Amino acid sequence: MNKYIERVLEETRAKNPDEKLFLQTVEEVLVSVEPLIDAHPEYEAACILERMVEPERAVSFRVVWMDDQLKYHVNRGYRVQFNASLGPHKGGLRFAKAVNLDTIKFLGFEQVYKDALTCLPIGGAKGGSDFDPIGKSDGEVMRFCQAFMTELYRHIGQDIDCPAGDLGCGGREIGYLYGQYRRIAGNAEFGALSGKDIKTGGSILRPEATGFGAVYYLCEVLKHDGEDIKGKRIAMSGYGNVGWGIMKKSAELGAKVTYFAGPDGYIHDPDGVVTEEKLNFILEMRAKDPMHCKPYADKFGCEFVPGEKCWGVKDVDIYMPAAMQNDVKMESAEKIAASGVKYYIEVANMPTTNDALEFLKKQKQVLVAPSKAVNACGVSVSELEMAQNAERLYWTAEEVDAKMHGIMTNIYNASVAAAEKYGLGYDLVAGANIAGFEKVAEAMMCQGIF
Ligand code: GLU
Repeated sequence: MNKYIERVLEETRAKNPDEKLFLQTVEEVLVSVEPLIDAHPEYEAACILERMVEPERAVSFRVVWMDDQLKYHVNRGYRVQFNASLGPHKGGLRFAKAVNLDTIKFLGFEQVYKDALTCLPIGGAKGGSDFDPIGKSDGEVMRFCQAFMTELYRHIGQDIDCPAGDLGCGGREIGYLYGQYRRIAGNAEFGALSGKDIKTGGSILRPEATGFGAVYYLCEVLKHDGEDIKGKRIAMSGYGNVGWGIMKKSAELGAKVTYFAGPDGYIHDPDGVVTEEKLNFILEMRAKDPMHCKPYADKFGCEFVPGEKCWGVKDVDIYMPAAMQNDVKMESAEKIAASGVKYYIEVANMPTTNDALEFLKKQKQVLVAPSKAVNACGVSVSELEMAQNAERLYWTAEEVDAKMHGIMTNIYNASVAAAEKYGLGYDLVAGANIAGFEKVAEAMMCQGIF
């Protein structure tokens, strides 16, 4: 391995020994950009890698709120502003019990290269809290969001950092966060947060963007092989906002999600989640109880396999992990390879462990596409929301959708071109990492010491 990469990886491990997720993504990215680092010895002199693995700023803060019984609760809030060399910091807020600094650093690091790949003027950041909105009343969520923003507001702004949603932080949470921001800042600065409801400064198609964009990217991958999405069957994990968008767009284009997994097991619906009734039922089911997908099987009379994931099923063409990080470990990767499936399209942030990803990439019959590229349409439409807010205008669905298409095609083409330029052939994983990384590194070189 390139000596410079090896040294920085060692230093990063020594400095952050407990941050397993962060170290996993740093390793995955740095190892894959080796040909780029080999070709740019000036990066070492400018300490580009050392700077890349150190956030520009990371804040951790106390969030105190009161539940409906007037009981006090203390949570921890975070915002890690990783790299703003391409534009204001940009990235979501994750609200989930398991969130800690490691989670936010891993997501923030990934966000830098994802945002760079979009070719839009945005840097990379991530934030969140160990607050779990599941089972909380609207009033409790609102009071938590107000307390969270009371500290966060001093670190954000339309030209500084624009947070958005992520797991556990949807339109409702963003609405409450924006309300508190406006109250404290005293101005109607819509561009300080994205993912807002369309009724309060949001962009049309933002909720659907990540899922729709993943399908647009998939269409490019299929086109490369002379294939069409029509008639394709998809197995997925997750049926949240992103998964739902994939179900809806793939159905519109003549494909179907025939398997999907939730925390309690997986569903097999050979007819696919294609009708409006089924798509609406998923929304209702999730709103009622996000931990169980079995009610879908009860309602539509299809198979439910408790406690299992659907990795390894044979009667599909495409796998799309769209749930959580490290969902697919070596054991599942082996089943996926043995299933004979042709496409493994990552959707969730880092859904595959590094060894499983390496293993899948080595399988000749499986094409692997990386989440950084596949799920980049969400943040892209967030940036389009910022652009509309700055113009004080709203664009039509046709305008936004055309831009989404253009951005996703561009991301695919840029990844293919970067891999080819550095002699890696058709490697969408390394290509995406290199294309994003090069953009950030070159901007940093232009800006001197920072
Ligand atoms: N959380 C999303 C992501 O991982 C969206 C971020 C945003 O819209 O800023 O890209």
